[in-house]
Amino acid sequence: MNRFRNFMYGRYGFDQFTKALIICSLLISVITTLTRINLLVILSYIPFLYALYRSFSKDIQRRSQENMAYLRLEGSVRSKFNRIKLWLVGTKTHKYYTCSKCKQSIRVPRGKGKIVITCPKCKAEFVRRT
Ligand SMILES: [Zn+2]
Repeated sequence: MNRFRNFMYGRYGFDQFTKALIICSLLISVITTLTRINLLVILSYIPFLYALYRSFSKDIQRRSQENMAYLRLEGSVRSKFNRIKLWLVGTKTHKYYTCSKCKQSIRVPRGKGKIVITCPKCKAEFVRRT
């Protein structure tokens, strides 16, 4: 264990991006098993080897920059998914309109008949049936 610690000294180690790479590699190998397209195995090695390379890398600054970029990407993908989820759940009880002036998305409750909608952003008014 001591030897391993000495070996890892000054090396980057494990982070979220490495974890994601390993998950990605595992996913590809699962897909390979399911589809029996054996050539995909080679593809599953790529993220895994890159994960190893990152863990043992001594260029800590570079690796943490990569991790930051990954976290930013993950955050934006996550928030997009959340918006789609909210929208899907919301369509049962609410209707969505886009402001014709500023393109702001506006959510109004369903079943209120013809109403005047005021855009919360630019205060433009328009009439819609809900
Ligand atoms: Zn507007």
